[in-house]
Parts: sequence; C-alpha cells; structure tokens
Amino acid sequence: MNKRETARTQKRLETLLVEWKPKLLRAWRVSHVFVDGPVGSSVPGRVTQATCIPAWEYKDAEIRWSIPALSELDDIELEEIVVHELLHCVVAPSTRGGKREEMVVTDLTALVLMDYPPRPPL
Ligand SMILES: [Zn+2]
Repeated sequence: MNKRETARTQKRLETLLVEWKPKLLRAWRVSHVFVDGPVGSSVPGRVTQATCIPAWEYKDAEIRWSIPALSELDDIELEEIVVHELLHCVVAPSTRGGKREEMVVTDLTALVLMDYPPRPPL
C-alpha cells in the first residue's frame, strides 16, 4: 500500500468520523490511532479492521483503525465500520465484550444507518 492510498483512506475515514462522532458520541472524547498494519484480531482467521477501547466510565475512548484493511472497503462499508466502532462505546457499559456485544452493535449499526439517506461519494 503506497502513501497516496494510505492518505486517501485516512481522509475518507476522517470525513466519516467528523460526521458521525457528534451524532453518536456527543459528550465523549474519542482519540483515533491510524495504524499502517493489523490492529489485532479476537477471532482467528478474521481480519480486524478496527478496535475500540472505551473507558466508558469517563466517556473516553481510543479507536485503532487498520488503514490497509480499511482501504479495501467501499464508502458504504467504511461508513458501517465507523458507525459500528463508535457504537461499541455506547453499549460498552452494558456488556462484557465478546460475541453478544458484536451482535448488538451490528444490529444497532443497521438501525442507525437505516435512518440516513445514501451519502455522496467520499
Ligand atoms: Zn465490533
């Protein structure tokens, strides 16, 4: 992956984060780490595109984004990942992570995106 692709992917991601963070996590501080490689995987054989580390008791979170994994996504898929990772912060106080949290976050992501019209290309 060359520098131009990396910069383009990061720019697309930042555009979506500027849009979605205030909608979903208005009172939170969220820092983003853009990683030029994998961000780890909790499921063997699956590429993890991003991982959210919420300190929900402080409304504080760090999200690590794997730029190479995300560069292969189209705009719709990238937006789904952004909403999904931000929603991990919302549900974190009610869960202990794992498959149940993934399912809840995946369902919430679909519900949230259902209310928004298709966006213009990034
Ligand atoms: Zn997830």
